[in-house]
Amino acid sequence: MDSAHVANPAAIGPLALVEYPHPALLRRASPVTRLDAGLRDAAARMFDIMYEAQGIGLAAPQVALPYRLFVVNCSGRRGDGEEHVFINPVLSRPRGTAVQEEGCLSLPGVRMDVRRPQKIVVDAFSLEGEPIRMDLDGLLSRVVQHEFDHLEGRLFTDRLPEAAALEVRRELETFREVFFGKQSRGETPVNEMLLAELDRLEAARC
Ligand code: ZN
Repeated sequence: MDSAHVANPAAIGPLALVEYPHPALLRRASPVTRLDAGLRDAAARMFDIMYEAQGIGLAAPQVALPYRLFVVNCSGRRGDGEEHVFINPVLSRPRGTAVQEEGCLSLPGVRMDVRRPQKIVVDAFSLEGEPIRMDLDGLLSRVVQHEFDHLEGRLFTDRLPEAAALEVRRELETFREVFFGKQSRGETPVNEMLLAELDRLEAARC
């Protein structure tokens, strides 16, 4: 905590990727009711972090922000493809099914086939507060559904059939051991502190 932090209760500190089982990834994010400069800056930094990590989508809980917001660029490269920011998204009209391998920046190294609706409609708001409606298919549909799950506190490993879920159980256990180990050594704040920070940020914009 610094003095700026005390002066501005809505301040968003430096952002960084967090990994499972950080509590931000496991609780439902809250609708944003205040679109301010701090949030626009955070979205810009989320694109930086996403490109750096070679991702194509990043949800606010993955950088420990408790907001219903995610960013996507299916090309994965700055200056290429199209950048999308979705705030308070609602998904509807699921059609068809598709199976595709997915990975997640919050579970590095884990890749599994995930079954999802092939097409969906997303309604959301842009960073300028303008309503967005898109009928999605293909990779953008897949990424939007994966990122939307993060806002619900769900990871793609929660969507696996039983045999595949068993397959990743040990990998998830390893992530837990690493995370709780860092907490016990004081390298990562304990959950009580992480949750208090999420509550503070939520109170500022939700
Ligand atoms: Zn993910």
